[in-house]
Amino acid sequence: MIKLNVAEIKKKLVGEKTFRFDLEPKELNLTPEDLPVVGKIKVEGSLANGGDVLLLNAVMQAIVARQCGRCLKNFQATTEAEILEKFYPADAQGIEKDAYTYEFDVVDITDALREGLLLVEPISALCKEDCRGLCPVCGIDRNVDSCTCETTTMDPRLAALKQLLKK
Ligand SMILES: [Zn+2]
Ligand SMILES: [Zn+2]
Repeated sequence: MIKLNVAEIKKKLVGEKTFRFDLEPKELNLTPEDLPVVGKIKVEGSLANGGDVLLLNAVMQAIVARQCGRCLKNFQATTEAEILEKFYPADAQGIEKDAYTYEFDVVDITDALREGLLLVEPISALCKEDCRGLCPVCGIDRNVDSCTCETTTMDPRLAALKQLLKK
């Protein structure tokens, strides 16, 4: 849980508190299933008094273990997230249901950081932009080897039919 005391910055109109953390994934309630982070998560940012709200502005950086969606190779990549969130007093009127709130001068930014980092994670990652993937016929990694399989963008069902006709 990452909690910040904001009693001081609330007293000043332009009050701002800066912070810098090296966090274990579990401090953000992140399990390896959520995001397989390698090492610690770097967080740097500030919480500022924005009048009715507190403004969180943070940059996060983490190394994440990924698997290439084309060649299935495991690799590590740095992921970066920028978080801009508002925190409202818990008794504020007319705020959205899922808005972040705080109480008693303590702001818990755990969820905002966690969600921010998960949000930038791509659904499918590539080991490199032009990864050539695996041959759908023999399974060879086309980045390191080549084969003579016929894979000219043929529909796999058509390819199966062609194999049958050959016999
Ligand atoms: Zn790849
Ligand atoms: Zn092949």
